[in-house]
Amino acid sequence: MAKEKTPRQSMPTLDLELRKTTFREVALGYSEEQARLEASRCIQCKKPKCVGGCPVEVNIPAFVAKVAEGQYLEAYDLVKGTNSLPAICGRVCPQEEQCEGQCVLGVKGEPVAVGRLERFVADYASAHGHKSQREKTAPTGKKVAIIGAGPSGLTCAGELAQRGHKVTVLEALHKPGGVLVYGIPEFRLPKRIVSEEIQQLAEMGVEIRNNYVVGLLSTIDELFNQGFDAIFIGTGAGLPKFLNIPGENLCGVFSANEYLTRSNLMEAYSFQDANTPIIIGKNVAVLGAGNTAMDAARTALRLGAENVSIVYRRTASEVPARKEEVEHAEQEGIQFRFLRAPMEILGDDGGWVTALRCQVMELGEPDDSGRRRPVAVEGKEEVIPCDVVINAIGSGSNKLLFRTAKDIALNKWGNIITHDESGKTSKTAVYAGGDIVTGAATVILAMGAGRKAAMAIDEFLRSGGSSK
Ligand code: FAD
Ligand code: SF4
Repeated sequence: MAKEKTPRQSMPTLDLELRKTTFREVALGYSEEQARLEASRCIQCKKPKCVGGCPVEVNIPAFVAKVAEGQYLEAYDLVKGTNSLPAICGRVCPQEEQCEGQCVLGVKGEPVAVGRLERFVADYASAHGHKSQREKTAPTGKKVAIIGAGPSGLTCAGELAQRGHKVTVLEALHKPGGVLVYGIPEFRLPKRIVSEEIQQLAEMGVEIRNNYVVGLLSTIDELFNQGFDAIFIGTGAGLPKFLNIPGENLCGVFSANEYLTRSNLMEAYSFQDANTPIIIGKNVAVLGAGNTAMDAARTALRLGAENVSIVYRRTASEVPARKEEVEHAEQEGIQFRFLRAPMEILGDDGGWVTALRCQVMELGEPDDSGRRRPVAVEGKEEVIPCDVVINAIGSGSNKLLFRTAKDIALNKWGNIITHDESGKTSKTAVYAGGDIVTGAATVILAMGAGRKAAMAIDEFLRSGGSSK
């Protein structure tokens, strides 16, 4: 069959009925045969646009060619050269907006499934006990503290350890991983995969101190006094935003952040083994339509809700979640109520949620983001009966750290201002990256920022820089 005639290989998925009652991973991964067939679709462009679409510039045609030849470990080594967390990115990156969105095959047909191939090589390497060995530089005697163990902090830690620095990661929660462990559920990103990546960091000599809230246990200046030569801040955007509508204090209203943390990190999803309280709900309304909203809705379904609705003020074409998550949510029976803007959460005399009152909307002229602005249809409302409301409209930066670090400049949204791509902040020897700089974004962008900051910190330390 000619290359361009081979159809894009579909991803095998867990049986639909099983999906609704377990937290097992939904996307099962390609077989070797599927991976080779998919890889053989790549036409090996001389100027590969896909690489430009990848924030960390993985050499896509080269690794895909290795997969087509059946040299999976070599393919993995190529990916790992620029992407330190391929098993994670292969599962959660919005490929349709990145590499796959640029693939020439997508112009007339379907792009090469780069993300699925990335996941395949990472899973293959893990199953065969293969680890990419990057040579570690001789110890420099310099110490770096990383605040926050999310993808930006962990990537920064790995790069600095590899360059010979002594790295300590300080994490507020009792497990490292950031959103990868407290936000993204098991059915999308098994915890085992995140632990394996963290284990590799430990093997490189990175120390991780959990339950360590910087700003409460130590300030940034105190960390310097403890002997750290430089600091990277990767504290993310974990503070939920609210709509400030009446009824948000009723029992049964959650922020998605709290709901997912209870289910994932506090393991309410494994109710046989953990006794973390969570309200299951019969009819659940989830506000918003990003990845967080899809994760919250699909979690509610698995915990036992009978009806779960995504309530979104725009339409299907503006949904910001990954395409695959939307498809899976639809298959699982999540209902989408488009062009509905929440106005009030209604409750009973006992203070429990009974319904969500919404304004019916229509699309008007495009706004600054280029998306058509939703406008109210005068006099048209809808009341959606529900007993749980999960707010997933977005999140911002937590200010706790900055109360004791007033010399770090923030913008009007509370995000750290950095000078350039190096992540340099207004305070000497302090760098930052990931969601705390950009606002809520993506795993790969956070990783890219952690990597660039590590290179800048390395240069700073090697040129004799200090916090003084
Ligand atoms: P985080 O992952 O937020 O990590 C920050 C860490 O810092 C946390 O562990 C936090 O506990 C710690 N911390 C905070 N303050 C302190 C302090 N004072 N002291 C010590 N530690 C501190 N992106 C995708 O690309 N694909 C997806 O499918 C996707 N799905 C998502 C689903 C959900 C539910 C959410 C919430 C986000 C999702 N994202 C997704 C976005 C992505 O996860 C984030 O952009 C990414 O995790 C940001 O990484 P980070 O390192 O900047 O911060
Ligand atoms: Fe292959 Fe598509 Fe990249 Fe071309 S753009 S090299 S076809 S993945």
